[in-house]
Amino acid sequence: MAILRAQALLSLSKLKTSLRLLHRFSSSSSHHSTQFQNVGFIGLGNMGSRMVNNLVKAGFNVTVHDISRDAMKMFTEMGVSARETPYEVAQDSQVVITMLPSSSHVMDVYTGTNGLLHGDKAIRPALLIDSSTIDPQTTRKISLAVSNCNLKDKRDNWEKPVMLDAPVSGGVLAAEAATLTFMVGGPEDAYLAARPILQSMGRTSIYCGGSGNGSAAKICNNLAMAVSMLGTSEALALGQSLGISATTLTQVLNTSSGQCWSSDKYNPVPGVMKGVPSSRDYSGGFASKLMAKDLSLAAASAEEVGHKSALIYKAHEIYKKMCEDGHETKDFSCVFRHFYNGKDEV
Ligand code: NAD
Repeated sequence: MAILRAQALLSLSKLKTSLRLLHRFSSSSSHHSTQFQNVGFIGLGNMGSRMVNNLVKAGFNVTVHDISRDAMKMFTEMGVSARETPYEVAQDSQVVITMLPSSSHVMDVYTGTNGLLHGDKAIRPALLIDSSTIDPQTTRKISLAVSNCNLKDKRDNWEKPVMLDAPVSGGVLAAEAATLTFMVGGPEDAYLAARPILQSMGRTSIYCGGSGNGSAAKICNNLAMAVSMLGTSEALALGQSLGISATTLTQVLNTSSGQCWSSDKYNPVPGVMKGVPSSRDYSGGFASKLMAKDLSLAAASAEEVGHKSALIYKAHEIYKKMCEDGHETKDFSCVFRHFYNGKDEV
């Protein structure tokens, strides 16, 4: 009896911990109390430009940088300060967020000449948040380099600079609407301090554990999404060849064990579902080249830890082929038409 009670208490405490670490932000656009006001932002592309807009709307003092002068001009014309290098951004910021294409860009912005960590190992920002999708190994290397630095201005209870990996789920539309989901790795107290900033750009954040775990969560999620899209597309194309319409088979899948996000929220067959990329010739959405990139990160990470993975390589091969065949900017669900030769539903 005592053992059962102890088990019940343990489960309850695990549940409470899980709930505590999954934060659904309120929909208010004004930011909540934060110890940080000056936020630097590097990488003003499709995602970053929209995230900066939301930080500005929430009242943060934002300083930006991008290697593209045009991207910076868009913000300076709005009255946002821009700097020539990441180092200069760091000089003006308590927090710096990066939103860059890949691991090598992030490494360069942190550790390159005039990078965020440039100089005498004493840096101004207390918190460095990388929201790019990169591999956990690179994240952990950079996090270590950050933890070897000191703070120029010591803060109460904040002795050293800290890095968080906080990649996002949700594409350009979610970045614009401030409804992104952040998956966060790094020290938990730093995550809690970062929440008001994340809150101005997203709807939800999930604390995933130590450094690199946010990056790990992101690439594992996208691996699952890639494979389920391939499975759904293959099933729907085979169904058509066997004489079952995609609409009917979708109904079957969505009320049976084959149901998944790719079948009931993001159906890949043109004409089956309104408002998804397949209904607008696979425009918008999540580009095949980004999916190929994320699968290459999953493959590299699996190799590094010696994980046996049959599906990563096959999925990566298929998405690389999609890009080689000229579909790199189309939504990844276009595998249905361009790899499996599935037909539109009329
Ligand atoms: P993007 O290519 O549109 O933007 C990247 C920006 O970084 C560009 O403006 C580029 O000029 C800038 N940049 C590159 N190197 C730089 C450097 N050394 N210094 C300063 N700026 C530099 O990419 P994006 O679509 O905004 O994606 C950014 C990240 O978010 C990627 O890691 C991507 O995988 C991830 N992501 C994208 C989406 C999406 O739907 N686009 C969704 C989720 C996650």
